[in-house]
Amino acid sequence: MNKELWKKCVNFHGHECPGLAIGFRACEIAVEKMDLKFSSDEELVCVTENDACGVDAVQVITGCTLGKGNLVYRGTGKMAFTFFNRKSGKSIRLIMKKFTSEMSREERQKYILEAPEDQVFSIKKPNFTVPNTARLFNTIICDRCGEGAPEHKIRINNAEKLCLDCFEKYTRGW
Ligand SMILES: [Zn+2]
Ligand SMILES: [Zn+2]
Repeated sequence: MNKELWKKCVNFHGHECPGLAIGFRACEIAVEKMDLKFSSDEELVCVTENDACGVDAVQVITGCTLGKGNLVYRGTGKMAFTFFNRKSGKSIRLIMKKFTSEMSREERQKYILEAPEDQVFSIKKPNFTVPNTARLFNTIICDRCGEGAPEHKIRINNAEKLCLDCFEKYTRGW
């Protein structure tokens, strides 16, 4: 394990915890299996299915960030990280396995960082393709609140164009 890189992740995240360890280990495995270089591959896209501590390690290690558009949040809530390399076409999906024994917080963190990889994660081929991360879209002004939102986030309701906030508000309970 790369102790220096772990320290970097802990500094960025603010504390060390089992959650950070999950993201760290997932990246370590992805980097190894996909022949990636740490932090340098612009072609890399990470899809995270949770917004927990581990995502901070993903950002530090892979350089995938929300701002660059190569960190994509897919909210299934699963402890799953999927990596796509657009250039090589390689991809991998890592989903954390359920713990089989009672462990303290410290023990859990150590286990995640050090146990054999196939005990910590199920390692699979992704069941979806690399998401379209195009960042250019038409802005539509919501008919209710007047705030602009990208076209694909606008819902049509009774011929009104609604942002997701207003769509929630006006369609619930009708
Ligand atoms: Zn944490
Ligand atoms: Zn609105």
